Amino acid sequence: MLEPVTKKYQDDSNLESFKFTFFCDLCAKPVKAVSYSFKPPFKPKLFISASERRARELLWLSDHGDAYERANKEVLIFFNRCPVCGRRVCDDCFADEQGICIECLKLKNEKEEKS
Ligand SMILES: [Zn+2]
Ligand SMILES: [Zn+2]
Repeated sequence: MLEPVTKKYQDDSNLESFKFTFFCDLCAKPVKAVSYSFKPPFKPKLFISASERRARELLWLSDHGDAYERANKEVLIFFNRCPVCGRRVCDDCFADEQGICIECLKLKNEKEEKS
């Protein structure tokens, strides 16, 4: 599986839909959730055979993998990537002017104060 965009993400997928939430690497605030519905090419039935169930499971798994990759691509624009530490952070945790995250900005300011 590909690396998630943010260190923390949540997968709330179920049989009807795929849902992923991504959290800011610094403040852990949920920034963006995406969900896609799972549309199996078969009709719902009350009784399904074991092999049929297995086929459905495999299909769900493969669609889930696709949905996960798609979600990661789609949320990229909602995060700012800090070029110093590589974290992906929300707008609140990003210093636009300096182009780095507030954590790195703090460290940078501390260094400058000392020197
Ligand atoms: Zn944040
Ligand atoms: Zn940073």
